[in-house]
Amino acid sequence: MSADAVRLMARPEISVLPLYAPDLAECAVDVSDNTNLWGMPPAARRVLADAPMSAAARYPSLYGAPLREAVLRYLELSSAPAIGVVTGCGSDDVIDATMRAFGGPGDRVAFSAPSFSMIPTFARLNGLEPVSIPLTDSFDVDAERLVDLGAKITYLCTPNNPTATLLSRSAVEYVVTHARGVVLLDEAYAEFAPETFVDLTMRAERVLVTRTFSKAFGLAGLRVGYGVGGADLVSMVERARGPYKVNALAERAALAALDPADDALGWVHAHAALAVQNRERMRTALYEIGLAPLPSAANFLFVPTARARLLASALRKRGVLVRAFTGLPTALPALAAAGGAALRIGIGPWEMMQSVLDGLAEATACE
Ligand SMILES: *Cc1c(COP(=O)(O)O)cnc(C)c1O
Repeated sequence: MSADAVRLMARPEISVLPLYAPDLAECAVDVSDNTNLWGMPPAARRVLADAPMSAAARYPSLYGAPLREAVLRYLELSSAPAIGVVTGCGSDDVIDATMRAFGGPGDRVAFSAPSFSMIPTFARLNGLEPVSIPLTDSFDVDAERLVDLGAKITYLCTPNNPTATLLSRSAVEYVVTHARGVVLLDEAYAEFAPETFVDLTMRAERVLVTRTFSKAFGLAGLRVGYGVGGADLVSMVERARGPYKVNALAERAALAALDPADDALGWVHAHAALAVQNRERMRTALYEIGLAPLPSAANFLFVPTARARLLASALRKRGVLVRAFTGLPTALPALAAAGGAALRIGIGPWEMMQSVLDGLAEATACE
């Protein structure tokens, strides 16, 4: 059978869907994906090292009940009435399942641009139509225009990837109050941010807040995430997600990372604080070499610059991997000046940051 014949057997929206292919390369210093550059909590490492054979030989829990309880304790929602948690194979899995649960073929998924690059992919994967509205000049969500799309699913991200900026409470509340369908509020970087919107889950039945163990919790390779929201909403997402999604080792590590007795959370908070401290130091250092990072509420910096591609490839030759973006919406003044191009730099131990700065200084000197 030819490749074309196989392609014709597939669903059309799948056969044209590109594979996720960020510009990756083996680099000694990889600050390209916003993961925890200090590693994983020692408590999680210990449970992985000590896991009995049965942990891999038997199935994990059906829907992650022990982890759901631990997450509710962590979010201080254990006694909140009718609030539930759905776990997943990364928060990506929860986002994907939410679209599948609430959207049918042709329905819209509304989101701001620029935002999380996976959203249009998950929309198309589920037969939905992704529609975006540019962020405002102050990098806030354009709440009225977004709501006017009448989408079945509206996606908001705060702090937003890739801009690192926080959405305003008034704009988020406007969307939550007026949206027609479900509002997905992605808080992948909440542990670094001064504000969270988890409280909205108790006021609005339509809100699902997603979080992840891939960033502050240092477990990206194990793929664990979750969504929190009204119990009825969560129950629909759980049906669409299916059983046995979080694997047994990931479940153990995530539980250990949330264990108050082991002070694993202390490690997570201490390293999130370090990331915030290094982020501000890095922001100043980048200004000193003529770059203009946006204010950040996450563990990365977003640096609009027309030279994004050039700088990223110069850095790569020096063993440093950052993420370069091009073709971002130029409706925003900060991006218009840069022709829609920007660098995204993950924050980690200062030696790594120094390598980025040294590389940038050399690259700039060579021009
Ligand atoms: C990294 C990230 C995620 C996390 O994805 P996982 O599947 O949990 O690893 C979700 N949303 C945004 C905006 C992210 O940047």
